Amino acid sequence: MGKITLNKIGLKQWPDLFGEKTRSRTSIESVVGIKVLLMSGKLLTIELNKLLSTVISTSTEVENLIIKAKSQNPVADDIKSELKTYIKLHPEIDLRNSKVVDEIIGNILTELMQKMKSGVYTEIDKQCVSIVDSIEDYRLATGVDLSSILNKDTIHCCVKCGQIVSRGAFRTSKCICGNIVNSSRDTSKVNIEIVDENVKFFFQQNEWLEYGVETLLAKAGYDTECGALVLGMSGVKHEIDVLGENIGLNNRVVVECKNKGIGIDDMFKMYGKMSDIGCNYGLMFTTSRSIHRDVQKIAKAKNIKIYSGILGCDEKGIIDDLRQENII
Ligand SMILES: [Zn+2]
Repeated sequence: MGKITLNKIGLKQWPDLFGEKTRSRTSIESVVGIKVLLMSGKLLTIELNKLLSTVISTSTEVENLIIKAKSQNPVADDIKSELKTYIKLHPEIDLRNSKVVDEIIGNILTELMQKMKSGVYTEIDKQCVSIVDSIEDYRLATGVDLSSILNKDTIHCCVKCGQIVSRGAFRTSKCICGNIVNSSRDTSKVNIEIVDENVKFFFQQNEWLEYGVETLLAKAGYDTECGALVLGMSGVKHEIDVLGENIGLNNRVVVECKNKGIGIDDMFKMYGKMSDIGCNYGLMFTTSRSIHRDVQKIAKAKNIKIYSGILGCDEKGIIDDLRQENII
């Protein structure tokens, strides 16, 4: 566990902080797509939030379609009706010859599978195009290019039956229909472009909120550290959403971020961390727009300032406020 150096001078009022960044944080910050999101400075805007929510849910839909394409089998009713049509069109078939019948059923199955799978592949293609289009629309509107949050991948399908034979790099394989696929040239390809798994995690675990708030504090002149495990005076480590120190204001702040309403328990938990670590005051950022009166009372008594409705907030107003902030 090393010393966490937020600023070069150090605050005389408080002892040095010891702690470490969790491995998951360090690795997530090194993901290219996430770097781009952090640098955009737009994590707290409604537009970016909506975009991420849309492209992530569409990506999940694509993954579900891929699962569907892998497992889909023709429905018995479809096989029956195809068989009836076939028999009508070919009165010469001898239905007592089981070999002939097997062959016909085999052909019908392959044909049906291909028809259904090509429907799924068309849908996958359509969804991926909509993801890429949304990213492009955002670039045109804001000048921020987020194409690096997407991962490109290729699905190789058996030309005979449409079944997925490999994903990503091509591998020689035997298809379930019996076709041996030796070369990627013998497959039809479906290109997919969906949101990177790390970006998905970053958004779904609300890390976007913590980093968005960190950027806000940095703009207000704070040295910051996001998501560190900090050693308290008790000897217990606490995970702190954002830590901030400001030399000009000579203060240290402990910051919590919540993508939901705040309860009384949240305030006491935060106050516990604050007093164990040592800081001038706490800042609570929440996406919730209303704060219960009792929560406000506790906040006031425990030196915690609450900023509500943080998604789509007036960032400039908050930055000005933080610059002047010196509660003690
Ligand atoms: Zn096949």
